Amino acid sequence: MATGILYLCATPIGNLDDMTFRAVKILREVDLIAAEDTRRTRKLLTHFEIHTPLIRYDEFSKAHGEKILSLLREGKSVACVSDAGLPAISDPGAELVKLAVEEKISICPIPGANAALSALICSALDTTKFTFVGFLPKTSKNRREVLTELSTHKETLIFYESPHRLKKILNEMLEVFGNRRAVLARELTKIHEEFLRGELAELAKISEPIGEFVIVVEGKIFSDELQTPNENFLDVYKNFVVQGMEKKVAIREVAKKFNMSRRDVYNAVVLMND
Ligand code: SAM
Repeated sequence: MATGILYLCATPIGNLDDMTFRAVKILREVDLIAAEDTRRTRKLLTHFEIHTPLIRYDEFSKAHGEKILSLLREGKSVACVSDAGLPAISDPGAELVKLAVEEKISICPIPGANAALSALICSALDTTKFTFVGFLPKTSKNRREVLTELSTHKETLIFYESPHRLKKILNEMLEVFGNRRAVLARELTKIHEEFLRGELAELAKISEPIGEFVIVVEGKIFSDELQTPNENFLDVYKNFVVQGMEKKVAIREVAKKFNMSRRDVYNAVVLMND
């Protein structure tokens, strides 16, 4: 007998209009919806006139996981939804996916809203490489360990955080990372959506934050990268010479430091002295 399909179905992170047509269709068609919080999901289903049976599935209802798997084995289809956004992203679902894959059950994503990526694309920070961290550990000691490990990452960092810990976490980031550019993406897709942009020192002064937040932090910028050859290599050369370095040696050292040819550095030095 063919097994059923486990759909991982995105739901809105605030604005109900972000529900996709496909999500509504799949949620209507499946045999069962496995939801993180059935009361919350029922409201969403009522809004979209979906009448599919619901079962709770979260970290406290592992037994329901077995029931879901047995239905899938029988060829029934199940959609897994979280309270908001993508299931399995800082939400239940990942464990169910692992168990289903072990049983060779097909998994099908129904993409849609996600807080981390929505914040990242509006951040104006580097979107080419990023690390999604999600929620930091609960204890300050464990948090600092994670932040210390992340402090040398060059890529943009994305965190989820609750409003009551936000200020504390921003101050810890400031201590461990130093002052860096960051963006607080607040209440995404909702009426009070806003982006607070600045440096950690400034953002950490936030008073009584309200709502849901994603923190996007610039990756570490190594000091060498701050210097572009055209801007700074002649200054570095001048400094070396002032410090008593032989001109020939200074040219060699600058070429090495800025990954330039010695001839290019030499020519620029000659032009500068003209
Ligand atoms: N699965 C969800 C997703 O795909 O984005 C994330 C769920 S996680 C339990 C909840 C956290 O996501 C919140 O504490 C907050 O950091 C972030 N979040 C969710 N909705 C948000 C929104 N509308 N605006 C800003 N942050 C949001």
